[in-house]
Amino acid sequence: MQNVTLNNGVEMPLLGFGVYQIPPEQTEQAVSEALAVGYRLLDTAAAYNNEEAVGRAIKNSGIPREELFVTTKLWVQDAPAQENTGRAFERSLDRLGLDQLDLYLMHQPYGDVYGQWRAMEDLHREGRVKAIGVANFHPDRLVDLVVNNDITPAVNQIETHPFFQRAADQALMREHGVQIQSWGGFAEGRNDLFTNPLLAGIGKEYGKSVAQVVLRWLVQRGVVAIPKSVRPERMAENIDVFGFELTDEQMASIATLDTGATLFFDHRDPEMVNWLGKRRLDA
Ligand code: NAP
Repeated sequence: MQNVTLNNGVEMPLLGFGVYQIPPEQTEQAVSEALAVGYRLLDTAAAYNNEEAVGRAIKNSGIPREELFVTTKLWVQDAPAQENTGRAFERSLDRLGLDQLDLYLMHQPYGDVYGQWRAMEDLHREGRVKAIGVANFHPDRLVDLVVNNDITPAVNQIETHPFFQRAADQALMREHGVQIQSWGGFAEGRNDLFTNPLLAGIGKEYGKSVAQVVLRWLVQRGVVAIPKSVRPERMAENIDVFGFELTDEQMASIATLDTGATLFFDHRDPEMVNWLGKRRLDA
């Protein structure tokens, strides 16, 4: 597995396994299977309600802790953000059965973002988490966070797939030393991604599936990918993208699929801010 080096020197796998929308009762098995086929980066969140199952799979795998890269995410906290963030972090760590996390992400750019971020900085300084970052930050919010705080986010995890490619956002993040990570790399199959003729045609040239072409395209751009699947054969397919390389022409042809717009929702949409920003998790 290839790694990327984050802005604080921490190494992160370029490809990992996401567990959003895997029901808690299915998650332990899915993560166990993912670890068995070679995934070492696991991406969960307090909001996914499956951290405990991820933790059980980690424990039962017998894989040395230092070989794993575990990410979880902080949900929007009530005030006082400083105290509540620390508590939310400890709860996540307890559920995962870990004493240190590799990457902690602020899940949404809402609420007392600065209070939450400063609490995350403290967790990092105390050595509880190796790297801290954000998710769903648009460029203006990201730069504002960078210029007004001590620690620059190591990662920004954002919707990134062939129909919403984020090339300009990636360039800006690179300028600030922030690693881009894709969520929804397959757009969850929307827009008939898995039967897209252009992607299928490229795949045919290498004997690869559309999923493999998409993941290869992401990692070749230096975007960390975390595909989700509950099927072992797809898990194996999705991690097998390091044995071929897309040409410049193929990369350029995939670039034409970009619509420049979300297929899910815009984090700047007031209705979404109202809905997501007010949602709280059961403790
Ligand atoms: P995704 O990875 O784009 O797509 C997952 C879908 O693709 C599932 O329906 C899966 O079905 C299918 N699939 C997987 N491999 C396939 C293959 N080789 N061929 C055909 N179909 C395949 O969607 P996602 O789970 O939303 O995104 C990935 C990860 O990003 C999440 O799990 C989560 O960790 C993270 N995420 C973060 C945020 C955020 O706000 N930070 C938001 C969304 C997601 P099966 O399971 O049936 O195989």
